[in-house]
Amino acid sequence: QGAISFKDVHFAYDPARPILKGISFDVPAGKTVAIVGPSGAGKSTMSRLLYRFYDIQSGSITVDGQDVRGVTQKSLRTAIGMVPQDTVLFNDTVAYNIRYGRPSATEAEVKTAAEVAQIAHFIDLLPEGFDTMVGERGLKLSGGEKQRVAIARTILKAPPILILDEATSALDTTTEREIQTALDVVSKNRTTLVIAHRLSTVISADEIIVLKSGEIAERGTHAELLLKN
Ligand code: ADP
Ligand code: ADP
Repeated sequence: QGAISFKDVHFAYDPARPILKGISFDVPAGKTVAIVGPSGAGKSTMSRLLYRFYDIQSGSITVDGQDVRGVTQKSLRTAIGMVPQDTVLFNDTVAYNIRYGRPSATEAEVKTAAEVAQIAHFIDLLPEGFDTMVGERGLKLSGGEKQRVAIARTILKAPPILILDEATSALDTTTEREIQTALDVVSKNRTTLVIAHRLSTVISADEIIVLKSGEIAERGTHAELLLKN
């Protein structure tokens, strides 16, 4: 479920400055494709197009064979889950922040998601350290813990499509490895688009696409790309 297809996608925020210049690739249902490239290459733009924050100028983007131009932003937001680089949390309990993924979830479901993400021990606490209204102390979450909240939220939401947008790039190496392990669990058998800076963080992707100045410079598995470089 959730197969994504980009076909000859052209996009510019400003007509005088093309950002994506004929991008074609597929993410088969349940597979993981990584988009790697330098800052400014157009990687995050691709995720915004998938959400239809902007519409493309030519070509097509389809999800399960359906052109996204025929799908509302609201249903795309339901179908697509995102773990961003820096997760911004609400000044409410960790449980509340997890439930944001699916407001109708039961307490038990929230707890299970928290357990999988290994944050069950602090779901009743506040993430930002101090609640001035209640005068109650909470905890100050580290970057890795915030990403775990985002992961628990995604587990609860269980979207057919997952976007990981530099989800580990703000973390130190040890934390990055731990969070990567948790992300691998969430993305397994789920259609996943990974956006990353470095090839070394996307070793297990089914295909890696190297984007440079809005064009596909290279593509292949991690092993294939290593041989070429
Ligand atoms: P990446 O994710 O690869 O770093 P982006 O997709 O964020 O690249 O950006 C690609 C290019 O588009 C950059 O030159 C950036 O400055 C430009 N850009 C991004 N967002 C906007 C916007 N909302 N309006 C105009 N230009 C934008
Ligand atoms: P809103 O509060 O405007 O309804 P949400 O915070 O619910 O938006 O976001 C819905 C989805 O869109 C989330 O998965 C979120 O990560 C994603 N999203 C929000 N802003 C952006 C952005 N600038 N680029 C890409 N995805 C985004």
